Amino acid sequence: MARPEGVAPGAYRVDAIGLPNSISVLLVEGDDGWTLVDAGVRGSVERIREALLALGGRLEDLRRIYLTHHHIDHIGGLPGVRGWAPGAEVMASEHEAMIVSGERNPDRSSGLAFRLANRVMKLSRVPVDRVVAEGETVAGFRVLLTPGHTLGHTSLLRDEDGLLFTADAFGAMVSKVKVGGLKAACTDPPLAKRSSEKILAEEFDTVVMTHGKPIHAGARRRLKEAVDRWDYA
Ligand SMILES: [Zn+2]
Repeated sequence: MARPEGVAPGAYRVDAIGLPNSISVLLVEGDDGWTLVDAGVRGSVERIREALLALGGRLEDLRRIYLTHHHIDHIGGLPGVRGWAPGAEVMASEHEAMIVSGERNPDRSSGLAFRLANRVMKLSRVPVDRVVAEGETVAGFRVLLTPGHTLGHTSLLRDEDGLLFTADAFGAMVSKVKVGGLKAACTDPPLAKRSSEKILAEEFDTVVMTHGKPIHAGARRRLKEAVDRWDYA
């Protein structure tokens, strides 16, 4: 069972697959119920359900599913989660919402291997109920548009306690933290760099990335080093 890890008050990181810290989603408790941030892969559905129950939530308490972007490791579990939480509102930025709902083709990754993989893996298309814009508040988090990894990619920042969920604006897929996760997975790497600088201009203390361990100490320094290493040398 996926044991949820508390990363800040009322916010829990859940391993979406069996390998710890490789794909994370967030469950956030609020006054009106729970919010799921990203939905993992197809096989994550049961893990997310068990995590919510383990945290004392009821399935009908899942109020919303926030999607940072349309990649398969973030929306693969969406149809399954909606299966047990049909009342949950699905939210994403405008560009990502169009792709998730099937009105637009997925963004092209800059690396060939990722482009081919994107072609083979079929995205599940699910209607998005609400489009969010820069600066809007979702479950206590401020929406930050951080395009580059995909063109409508967003990150979430809870100003109250400095909890930052970068999604794939930063990632530590292998070892070191990198801008945009892997460069080859980014649609527009230079744009991902600009978004990483935008994040650095914000105030934050705790960083949770989709790929990699949460950063509690020296978060700003770790992200700054990643931006400074941008050439991927
Ligand atoms: Zn991604």
